[in-house]
Amino acid sequence: MGKKNKNNIILNQMRDIYYPKEKRIGKYYLDWMGYSIDEENTPSYHHIIKSSTLKSENKDSNPTLENGAYLGVQSHYVLHYIEKIDIELYNAWNYLFLLINKMKCYPIDDVWKMVFNLQEITDKKIDEYLNNKNKGGSYVFK
Ligand SMILES: [Zn+2]
Repeated sequence: MGKKNKNNIILNQMRDIYYPKEKRIGKYYLDWMGYSIDEENTPSYHHIIKSSTLKSENKDSNPTLENGAYLGVQSHYVLHYIEKIDIELYNAWNYLFLLINKMKCYPIDDVWKMVFNLQEITDKKIDEYLNNKNKGGSYVFK
C-alpha cells in the first residue's frame, strides 16, 4: 500500500474519532491549528514525533493514530515554517497535538482556546519574521 493511501486511511479514522458528524458542516471543520478544512486546506497527516527520531523497527514514516495530528495542507506548511523560525513554538504545537490526540474526541472548549492562543502567537511570529526579512534586517531568534 502506498504511503498516501495509508495516510488517507488514518486520516479518515481520525476524522471519525475527532470530528463527530454534528461537528462537521459538510466538509467544513477546523483542523488542530484552528484553520478551516476546505478545498484548499485539505486534510494531511502530521507526525507529532518526527519519523526521523523513531529509529528502526520499520516505524519510519509509518502513520499511526497515536502519533498523528490532523492538519490541513496549508496549516501543515505554516507549522513547518514555524519549525524553522521558532523551535519552541513548534514544540508547543506538538505538545498540544499530543494532548488532543490522547483525548480521542472532539476537542473541548478549553483546548480550542489553547489552539487559538497558539494560532495568534504563530501569526504574530510569522508577521514579525517577514517584516524583519523585508527590511533586510537579520532576525534574532529568541
Ligand atoms: Zn508535519
